Amino acid sequence: MICATIARHDKFALNKNFEMNAIMKGKTMKQKNALFPFPFLLAYVLFVWQVACHPILTEKELEGKARTIHERVLTVDTHCDTASRLLDKNWDIGVRHEPGQRRSGMIDLPRMTEGGLDAEFFAVFVGQGERTEEGYAKAKNTALRELDAIHLMCQKYPALVGLATLPEDAYRLKKEGKRAAFVGMENGYPVGKNLANLREYYNKGVRYLTLCHTRDNDICDSSTDRLSPEDNGLSDFGKEVVAECNRLGVMVDVSHISDKSFFDVLKVTKAPVIASHSSCRALSDSPRNLSDEMIRALAANGGVIQICFLTSYLRTPNLNPEREKTLKELQDKYGSFREIKDEAIREKIRQEYEAINERFPEEKATVKDVVDHIDHVVKVAGIDFVGIGTDFDGGGGVEGCNDVSQMFRVTEELVRRGYSEKKIEKIWGGNAMHVFRRVIEISKRSS
Ligand SMILES: [Zn+2]
Repeated sequence: MICATIARHDKFALNKNFEMNAIMKGKTMKQKNALFPFPFLLAYVLFVWQVACHPILTEKELEGKARTIHERVLTVDTHCDTASRLLDKNWDIGVRHEPGQRRSGMIDLPRMTEGGLDAEFFAVFVGQGERTEEGYAKAKNTALRELDAIHLMCQKYPALVGLATLPEDAYRLKKEGKRAAFVGMENGYPVGKNLANLREYYNKGVRYLTLCHTRDNDICDSSTDRLSPEDNGLSDFGKEVVAECNRLGVMVDVSHISDKSFFDVLKVTKAPVIASHSSCRALSDSPRNLSDEMIRALAANGGVIQICFLTSYLRTPNLNPEREKTLKELQDKYGSFREIKDEAIREKIRQEYEAINERFPEEKATVKDVVDHIDHVVKVAGIDFVGIGTDFDGGGGVEGCNDVSQMFRVTEELVRRGYSEKKIEKIWGGNAMHVFRRVIEISKRSS
């Protein structure tokens, strides 16, 4: 309103000056020089207008404004790896754990409330294993155990959290003062070669499927598997999986998949797709990130990229060669951490990893880096195509927002950069929920 008034006043003042200019025509140079202050007057009016529209807030006012917005909008994180922690009998998601401690993890229900995060997509994750009948059976078993653990969490803490399978569930639960637990599945490996498995997971609440993880699988090639030099993209079976996701109303997640797989998916999908936890390659050159061309293609498809909080996806790291050498030695000694099931060995690796971190601390990305990536998507594709997918408990976490209790800091930085409440609402969940609704509509049309 203030802006409109000033704008009107501004226009009036400008018209008046133009009129004056016309009257002055034909007068002497000396008289014309009386108009010299005009550019200064214009600059002054523009300055007043700018300040009135974007008042400079004190840090306290900015925090207050950000807190109000953060509380009002639906806040959704589309990716965390907390589901596998639910299998640990010695860890309880209903209890508050002190942030920063290794055993605390990055998400629990009390800290979700504290950080004002309304909805979380808990990703059922199974690392890529052998593509054999035995391998598929084991993967399915793990997936079902994690799925059951998510259901159990909702049954055990009904006053704190509810299972969400529709966007409306999240808005309803927020009104009830509860957290919403959506379910995603990271890696299509547990689908095996049988679409009936996908239907079973859907019936248990899975609403997005990340087609692969760090290695190629039967569905598609991964962005980080260079064992085979060929990028074969989406397989014929992968095309069937995408079609079945479209039919069921499961969002197809293109995070982790190779560039060819990405473009192949866009060719065959009937519904918009999501990148549940990926960032911008233009700002951090990782194969896990999306190039500007991919971001534009995703937007043209009506999808959304959810910025991931993993340092190496946010900024090109300042590598410490000694740290890298020691980490490589650790990796060579034990292989991939996620593939190791023996808890005693896992604990030993954690301890060794922690010791390395103490000796050579990693330079972490910051909340500003996260918002730089949001800014970049807005610049490249527009405000309707970006959101947040932290990857907490899967490597995500930045300086200033290193666990779910600090989620508010992202809103604060968005407010600092002049994002309006309407835009913040889109980033924090509006865009992802819009895609989810479209996926459901398209699925209903096809059945
Ligand atoms: Zn991931």
